[in-house]
Amino acid sequence: MNRDNSLNIIKIAEAVMPGGVNSPVRAFKSVGLSPVVVQRAEGSKIYDIDGNEYIDYVMSYGPMILGHSDKRVIKAITDASVNGFSFGATTEGEIELAGLINRHFPSVEMIRLVNSGTEAVMSAIRLARGFTKRDKIIKFEGCYHGHSDSMLVKAGSGALTTSVPSSSGVAECVSADTLVAVYNDLDSVKTLFSNNKREIAAVIIEPVAANMGVVLPEEGFLKGLIDLTHENGGLIIFDEVITGFRLSLGGAQGLFNLKPDITCLGKIIGGGLPIGAFGGRRDIMEYLSPSGPVYQAGTLSGNPICVAAGMATIKAMEEDDAVSKANEATDYLVKSLRGELKNFDDKITINSISSLLTIFFKRGNVNNFEDVMKSDTNLFKKFFGNVLNQGLFIAPSQYEAMFLSSKHTRADLDKTTGIIVKAIKETI
Ligand SMILES: *Cc1c(COP(=O)(O)O)cnc(C)c1O
Repeated sequence: MNRDNSLNIIKIAEAVMPGGVNSPVRAFKSVGLSPVVVQRAEGSKIYDIDGNEYIDYVMSYGPMILGHSDKRVIKAITDASVNGFSFGATTEGEIELAGLINRHFPSVEMIRLVNSGTEAVMSAIRLARGFTKRDKIIKFEGCYHGHSDSMLVKAGSGALTTSVPSSSGVAECVSADTLVAVYNDLDSVKTLFSNNKREIAAVIIEPVAANMGVVLPEEGFLKGLIDLTHENGGLIIFDEVITGFRLSLGGAQGLFNLKPDITCLGKIIGGGLPIGAFGGRRDIMEYLSPSGPVYQAGTLSGNPICVAAGMATIKAMEEDDAVSKANEATDYLVKSLRGELKNFDDKITINSISSLLTIFFKRGNVNNFEDVMKSDTNLFKKFFGNVLNQGLFIAPSQYEAMFLSSKHTRADLDKTTGIIVKAIKETI
């Protein structure tokens, strides 16, 4: 596969943008290849500037559950743009989107729209701190909640006692208030609560982790976590930026029948345009300015074009039963892969739920970050280069999910199985 144009453009990009990209994973650094430069995308396919076609399993890291360039969403964006792009004043669309989200997420009694998932989480945490009048937050190792300072934290060497910044530039006094627990391990959370009595404002979690590869919550873990948090006077924040409108129209909380205090959304609710949102219990949300003392604001928040794209996406998903379609496609793909790759059980593990999956280059269960880190990233690297050249666009990292859409066809999936099976046989 020839990617000369991409190669040349990236050289120019590297001179004007750090690493040649506007978000790190796009640089393909962990697979040691030069990145693909995209020209356009439609349905399940994405095309680079050399004219190569790929079946897309990145799907913009989640938003494109309807596939790319859905005609109904294009129309909504076009129609909205004719009326102006941004006003710094309330529009009816925002209220309509709030209602649409509330209908699917009953726990989101009130909502605030922001411009990214990062902003949603950052603001939800400030709100939780303001509401509880406590400072400390518990997060889980391997869960990603955007790049606000207090979330760029990892367990220190004396795990469960100290946490340290996971990025340069994050002050230690900020990271010190974020405690790190182990996914699927309630005891690790219990220890943190008992060592920090009446100090924990909130526990934040991806109810299904999808940013260390896909890691599923074990039976009873989320319910136990909610109860434990409430017993200790903290708030539970579900970061459903990926899972919202994907695991079900009502997200992971709808699928598992759980009720967090605050929910963070993003990705699908903007249909590919920049958006984020956080919402939850009315009494908590009323702590937000201007009704309450917790400050939060945004020049472009509730942008009419983003709101129109999000609303059109959600309505089209309802119309198409897009969640079921994407789930069926994923089931079909996972069954085919498991069938064809039986002999590789001691080398790979496939984690999957709804329309998310990860092929871990590791034997046995993958239930937390420590398991994830045992994956053979060299094998992944070889595998990635192989499938990319056969026409599959998957995230260039072992620690990401594959995202399916309602537009992935049987033909796409059969071709994908063929490419993946061949690559694994050649790689391992
Ligand atoms: C993508 C993501 C975020 C951050 O959203 P951005 O829009 O990239 O800022 C936060 N939480 C989770 C779970 C995500 O997957």
